[in-house]
Amino acid sequence: MLVFEFKAYGKSAQMTAVDDAIRTAKFIRNSCIRLWMDIKGTGKNDLQKYCAVLAANFPFANELNSMARQASAERAWSSISRFYENCKKGVAGKKGFPKFQKDCRPVEYKTSGWKLADDRKSITFTDKKGIGRLKLKGTRDLHFYQVNQIKRVRLVKRADGVYIQFCVDGNRFENIEPTSNTIGLDVGLKEYYTDSQGRMVENPKFLRIGEKVLKRSQRRVSRKVKGSTNRGRARQILGKRHLKISRQRKDHAVKLARCVVQSNDLIAYEDLRIKNLVKNHCLAKSINDASWHQFRIWIEYFGKVFKRVTVAVNPQYSSQECSNCGEIVKKTLSTRTHVCRCGCVMDRDENAARIILSRGLGTVGHAGTFAAPLATTGRHVLGGSFPPKAALGTPLRVHSRLRRKPSGSADSPQRSGF
Ligand SMILES: [Zn+2]
Repeated sequence: MLVFEFKAYGKSAQMTAVDDAIRTAKFIRNSCIRLWMDIKGTGKNDLQKYCAVLAANFPFANELNSMARQASAERAWSSISRFYENCKKGVAGKKGFPKFQKDCRPVEYKTSGWKLADDRKSITFTDKKGIGRLKLKGTRDLHFYQVNQIKRVRLVKRADGVYIQFCVDGNRFENIEPTSNTIGLDVGLKEYYTDSQGRMVENPKFLRIGEKVLKRSQRRVSRKVKGSTNRGRARQILGKRHLKISRQRKDHAVKLARCVVQSNDLIAYEDLRIKNLVKNHCLAKSINDASWHQFRIWIEYFGKVFKRVTVAVNPQYSSQECSNCGEIVKKTLSTRTHVCRCGCVMDRDENAARIILSRGLGTVGHAGTFAAPLATTGRHVLGGSFPPKAALGTPLRVHSRLRRKPSGSADSPQRSGF
């Protein structure tokens, strides 16, 4: 699925209608959650049927396109089923019990309720919400796709206006030559990441500057009297600042991720989960966590596009282990250099990145269930014979042997299973 986004322009009455449609979608989604909470055993079909009940009882719900109503119910169900899954899997900590939505999530139309103009420069919403024709402005060209390839149309509200997203049925693949490079990435606080060859990418300046700007805008909001017009205005400004910084962050993550994936056949990185990270009050840290998570998602996306292998490895002790001999060398956070008895001296983050790469290379063989053709090479037999847990504790002799192999060339683009 590809998503193209355009900014929408229309009269203020139309924008009010968009707000109304978004509120209605939220109402339907929250009503479905309510129904599920109140009546035990409510299933997906019950929610779908409930849409019709809501439409019959509330005129404003009836005004929204019927498929858009269904889509809202589906969203409710997806949050419920995610909760069920987390319970079933026994996820530690919070299970994500469905909550009522407060903020403005997008309203999603499917294949009806809208019509794209022939020149693809405007879209008309045809349901009874009265949104009408909105002009589209963006850099993407929709002419490339057939209208029936557009599976969903979303109305998204942001701090600086309304956006329309088109979800197009299709996949993006690009063929590029294998590079015979492999890379391990270690994310740090000081640097954006350090790779297994010791190259560092600095944190972009806008993250630090943006943090100050955000703090200032946030202070301005909290100084104003609650409910006053001034507070509303200050909040709008804060929203725009947040939007700008998140766009800068995304832009940075996308460009960097594409660059990393294009120049390597295998990319290994830590399997950090935002949930597991210790929550702290240091804003710089939290910004970094968020951008790293995004970076990872883009790496995985580009890994699929360019048919490259991406591996998330267990981050345990990656900074303590010696990448040369496997000895555990205890260090505190302030120790910046890794010094081992075997004579290995290098930057702490580079050492960690090397460990991550070797764990990544060691894990690759486990992933496929159809290991038969791969099992002929010594490497995969070795890799396969370790239970995953033992592999995470890194049998180091094996790993260092693996690393000496020219691993990049063997793995690349044909292996699209990842
Ligand atoms: Zn060592």
